[in-house]
Amino acid sequence: MKLKVVNPATGDVAALLNADDAKSVKAKYQQARAAQPGWARVALRKRLAAIEKFRDLVAAQSEALARVLTTEVGKPIAQSRNELKGLAPRLDFFIAETARTLRPKKVSVDVAGSMEERISHEPLGVVANISAWNYPYFVGANVFVPALLAGNSVLYKPSEFASLTGLEIARLLHESGIPEDVFVPLVGGGDVGAALIKQPVDGVFFTGSYATGRRIAEAVRGRMVKLQLELGGKDPVYVCEDIDIAKAAAGIADGAFYNTGQSCCSVERIYVSEKIFGPFVDAFVAEVKGFRRGDPADERTYIGPLTRAPQLKVLESQVKDARRKGAKVLAGGNRVKAKGNWFEPTVLVDVNHAMDVMRDESFGPIIGIMPVRNDAEAVKLMNDTEYGLTAGVYTNDRKRAERILSGVASGSVYWNCCDRVSPRLPWSGVGNSGIGLTLSTYGIETFTRPKAWHLRGG
Ligand code: NAD
Repeated sequence: MKLKVVNPATGDVAALLNADDAKSVKAKYQQARAAQPGWARVALRKRLAAIEKFRDLVAAQSEALARVLTTEVGKPIAQSRNELKGLAPRLDFFIAETARTLRPKKVSVDVAGSMEERISHEPLGVVANISAWNYPYFVGANVFVPALLAGNSVLYKPSEFASLTGLEIARLLHESGIPEDVFVPLVGGGDVGAALIKQPVDGVFFTGSYATGRRIAEAVRGRMVKLQLELGGKDPVYVCEDIDIAKAAAGIADGAFYNTGQSCCSVERIYVSEKIFGPFVDAFVAEVKGFRRGDPADERTYIGPLTRAPQLKVLESQVKDARRKGAKVLAGGNRVKAKGNWFEPTVLVDVNHAMDVMRDESFGPIIGIMPVRNDAEAVKLMNDTEYGLTAGVYTNDRKRAERILSGVASGSVYWNCCDRVSPRLPWSGVGNSGIGLTLSTYGIETFTRPKAWHLRGG
């Protein structure tokens, strides 16, 4: 079987790859299983040195890697470069924190010194890492780097929309000293992912949509396997009346439209104090109209194509549904008639929660803005969702922000910022945004099984 890699900006075929099938997936699983105990015995110092080398190789080859990413995903080249640049601090975090986090901990010794209690961190074993295309370096590394450092072998299935990048990641990890049967890439679509989780792996770590996450949860039901699902969002931002309107509008427009709106933590809904609604919307629309859409290989491009063609229909249907229910389109609203997957940056007002655009993940360059009377109404609307990945508040009053954010059910909360991820903080979701977490020291421990030692001496 061949996997066709299509350039989303032009519709042209960029590459044809040999895809895996059920038989090769099984063979790769067996390879990873056989290799794992040996990998777990390699000194952590050596595993860390391999990840340091990986970081340096990525940095040295980043321009070529950015071009591959832009070709297959359609990410504007400046943003592809940003993703590659942003990888190093993440890797540095894991390099700095893993030894301390996984060190065995003596938690108690009784007075007589005869009973010692200790916790060690054992690798899970063989883990499946099924990944998304929108930030393949980030969402991939959040899983495979700490998993490898903890002594697991990793069966890595990049998205079928980021397979060239997935294979580049595998090449660089192998060149860095991670054995080929310890980090094993699988090429293909959902069928290959489904074949992978049929194997008796010890952990399934998935990043992708709620719909697929649910299918995966159903597929592993009844098996004693660790499952993490990092899923979508419908992330809200609330703008209070005391804020610098131009500054907030610029920051939030970037949070909504960066990566052409295809970030898991893209701003997807905006609530604005009715006292500043008009001026905020004017400033926001001016920002959006200023975004340069075009060839993603051009340095000046800010908005690229959608990576996946079927998403065009989702956006069209959200606009149609909103219009039918009374929304007004202030910018964009249509697919662009050209080769490739293009949609105009779109801003809607007169929206409400009966509309799909305010409830379902859009995952594209489209946003609805709604006025609110007060903080209580804003919190109620922010929480009126099945998702809970991130939420933000813009106000000059930190106490007010903390009060509001403590009432919002979401994995991450932001004051005067949005669309932000830190390696030092856990990345997790509430409700349909998923279960489990990556990043922070918890995101290192999660690839291990804590083992309890009860040691009685003399
Ligand atoms: P997707 O669910 O379509 O695909 C994700 C992966 O699952 C791909 O590798 C795909 O081949 C595989 N897959 C599909 N069907 C499968 C099956 N039945 N069994 C096993 N694997 C299967 O998602 P996507 O389009 O790649 O990514 C976009 C989504 O990911 C958005 O919803 C976005 O919000 C979410 N996302 C979440 C995070 C997060 O950290 N929470 C990060 C990035 C993206």
